[in-house]
Amino acid sequence: MDLRIGNGYDIHRLVPGRPLILGGLRLEHPDGLGLDGHSDADVLVHALMDALLGALSLGDIGKYFPPDDPRWRGADSLVLLEQVVGLVTEQGWSIVNVDSVVVAERPKLKPHIEAMRSAIAARLGVEPERVGVKATTNEQLGPTGREEGIACHAVALLQKP
Ligand code: MG
Repeated sequence: MDLRIGNGYDIHRLVPGRPLILGGLRLEHPDGLGLDGHSDADVLVHALMDALLGALSLGDIGKYFPPDDPRWRGADSLVLLEQVVGLVTEQGWSIVNVDSVVVAERPKLKPHIEAMRSAIAARLGVEPERVGVKATTNEQLGPTGREEGIACHAVALLQKP
């Protein structure tokens, strides 16, 4: 059995007047902030996509969904994730598991973690137990700590029989 591992990272700015979409869910920030970006700016799903692509050295999401392409304006990142999963499975690979950590001071993500895992698992075509979503603050340090943005780190493990 062949195994491949990939890692992904993303960060988007928190701004007024945008929805806060994380892990496919629409959340409420206490100050009404949301994530800025060309698509729905779902940093968690973007980091996962880069981890999946990275595992097979297929490049990054900018290669498949360039931010200057009007097709991806306001795109639902879960739909883009499905397309990335298609690239992976087309080549005979399957997902063993993914794991992620979202770095955000607010809102509290704990109440939403299970729903995020389910939403992501459905698009990955795996059981939720194979999808790790964790949350941490940055102890008010740096850009995520100052709530200038929300970041996410992710890894993905693939197998081919
Ligand atoms: Mg992104």
